[in-house]
Order: sequence, then C-alpha cells, then structure tokens
Amino acid sequence: MSLLIKNVTVCNADNMEAGVDILLGGGIVKEMGKNIQGKTDRVIDGQGLYAFPGFVDLHCHLRDPGFTHKEDIVSGTKAAAAGGFCAVCCMPNTKPVADSVETVAYMIKKAQEAGFCEVLPVASITQGMQGKELTDFAALIRAGAVAFSDDGLPVVEDDMILAAMDKAKELGTFLMLHEEDLEMRGQGVVHDGENAKRAGICGIPRAVEECMTARDIMYAERTGAHIHICHVSTEGSVELIRRAKSRGVHVTCESGPHYFSATDEMILDKNPNAKMNPPLREERDRQAVCRGIADGTIDAIATDHAPHSKEEKAVGIEQAPFGIIGFETAFALAVTNLVDVGIRDWKDLARLLSERPNALLKRKGGRIAAGMPADIVLCDVREKYIYSEKDIVSKAKNTPFLGTELCGRVKMTIGGGKITYDRQAD
Ligand SMILES: [Zn+2]
Repeated sequence: MSLLIKNVTVCNADNMEAGVDILLGGGIVKEMGKNIQGKTDRVIDGQGLYAFPGFVDLHCHLRDPGFTHKEDIVSGTKAAAAGGFCAVCCMPNTKPVADSVETVAYMIKKAQEAGFCEVLPVASITQGMQGKELTDFAALIRAGAVAFSDDGLPVVEDDMILAAMDKAKELGTFLMLHEEDLEMRGQGVVHDGENAKRAGICGIPRAVEECMTARDIMYAERTGAHIHICHVSTEGSVELIRRAKSRGVHVTCESGPHYFSATDEMILDKNPNAKMNPPLREERDRQAVCRGIADGTIDAIATDHAPHSKEEKAVGIEQAPFGIIGFETAFALAVTNLVDVGIRDWKDLARLLSERPNALLKRKGGRIAAGMPADIVLCDVREKYIYSEKDIVSKAKNTPFLGTELCGRVKMTIGGGKITYDRQAD
C-alpha cells in the first residue's frame, strides 16, 4: 500500500520544513519533496498539520498476560497508536512475569497480530522479579527482549545488581532501573511534603528515589554497564544523573509527562488517579525535570502508562494501586507544558519522543527521511480541547488530567506504512 501525505510540516530532531509531500510505500519513506505527483492508494491532506517521526515509548505496562481486566496487548497498543506511538517497551511485571522466552514471544506475537503498534518487551532482571536469581539474558535477547528491568521493584541486593550490570555489559544490553528504597518508603503513598501533611496522608521522601539512584550510578561507574534510570521525579535525581553524565558514566534516563506537568497539589482532594510511583513532587522538582529536559540530562519522555480498573482505584487514595495511564496524553502534555510555555521547541519533541528512544533501543527510526521506516505521526499542534473520558481508547480511565485543557492532538498514526490510528475514522 502506498500513501502520499501532501503539504505537511515535517518536524525532525534537527530540522523543520513546511510544505513537504511525503510518499510512503513498502513500509518506508520512498520520497520527500515539493509537489510529488504520481499514483498512490491514498492521498492524505497534511495542510496545517505537523509530521513527527513515530513516537517510541520506553516504559509502559500492558498488563498482558495476567491482568487483562486492566488492559491487554490489543487495547493497550490501540491506545498507544492513538497517542502517536509506533513502538512501546512493555515492562515485565505481568503474570507470569516476563522472565521466559515463551512470555516474551507471546507479547511480540500478540502485538503483531493486532497490528496497532510494535511491542518491544523488557524482560525481568531476576526470575519472577524475586531479586534472587538472574534470568537468562542471552536467551531473552534472542527471543526479542530489548532491555532488562524489575520495574515496580528495585533490585535490592548489591550482589544481584552488580551481577546484572556485568551481564548487561557483556551482552551489550542495558538495565532499566526502578529506583526505590522500599524500607524507607514504608507505608508512603504520596510525596512527603506540606500537601501530604495537609491531606493527612503518609509521605514518600525524595531520598527513597535518590539513594538508590546514587547507588546504581556508582555501580555503573564501577562496572561500565549502561543503566537507564526510569521515571525520574526529583530535583536531586536529575542532579545526580547530570553529574554522572558529565563524568562519563553510561547512564541515561526518562521522565514522565506528569512529572513536568503537575505537582503534589493534585493529591489535596485525595484523588486516587493522582497516585503513582514515584509520586508527583513539588514545584521545584517539576522545574528541575523541565531543566533536565532542556539541557539533555533527561533523554526521553516515557509515559509509564499504568492502567488499573475503576474498581481497583475506587478504594480511596491510601489503598488504591499506584499508576496512571499515559499514552494518549503524552504528546498533548508535552505541547502544553513544554512547548507552549517556551521551555522546548517542536524539534525537541521529535528528539524526546522519537529520536532518542529509537537510538537507545538501536531501533531504525526516529527521523522522517527517504529510506527510513514509514513511522509517522500527524498532529494538529494548535488544537485545544478539554480532555474527557470519551477521548480515551485505553481500557482503563485512571488519569488525573480529565477535565484539563490540553493543546495538541494526534490526528493520524502511520506505523510501518500502515495507518494504525485515524482520528477522523474514530
Ligand atoms: Zn517503575
């Protein structure tokens, strides 16, 4: 199938150009230029739209196998396509845990059959995420695992994380680390600050995240392994990573749209949908995340899409599980809270949502150019709307951004040359 996108503004990490035609065929970009003519199966009018390279999410939870009442690979990848994603890395805390070749293969195959979005499984570091025994990294990589993580949990034992780092280095892969001192967190639910006190809810201090981040940076420096710090939320973590990078430690990191868009004021009404881990922090942390994004300390925006059912979240903020959905608001939150306020520009969004995550995964993509994969997102970057439940494609609705005014709408997603989301047809 061939597609011709007419008269669009192309937005790559290093250049922008208006009035471009893009011809897609055979799963790749065939030609780009002005006034491309010729017979194609479909012509798409790109007038007024921006074309970004297909987004890649380094961090999400698809809940399949095992928790498909929350989300499954079909509903999750459909929601991802609606958010402009052409590939998503799914975390291994499923049931069973993605610690076997069979589970990894199941995830990839089910996503391929659904055809909405490529799924790149992240296999667990330890068997059953129990922290006791390493998984078979080499076999899991052969099955299609793109990285290793016990996300949801830290790797507590020093011997275990050091062994994992050595193995990752040997095999040329990387570890995605959920940094949390569980003992220090205790019964903490939200960020440990004035707002937690006001609401009378037990807090999670910044140090819960920062001390484990510091430990793993130290070990990465010692072993030379590539570590990737997940969902960076505090001023201190951003600074630790900035300094480590300047020393040449092989550390990369991501932060989520919620950490640069919101603060712990959101928990004052005890909304369980404003509860995630790590928690929403204070304004100074939000600003530090923005600065980290601006100076390149933070490599990528990753959603940490974490669906839960209405019933599970309806038990009050203290008992409700951690996590919010994120595929469908990631782009709009980035437009609203990074671009519209002048922190970053359009090219940076192409870098943060596509170029860098593709590069980290050594995946071909991240740029709209002749010969590159036909992974393209068409967006109306000026459309304003109030985000409402009827907009949500995901099975789950747990987001604190309902009722918020957002700017920026994904209109169409094309993955591998195929239309995977079309808002007009929706
Ligand atoms: Zn995590």
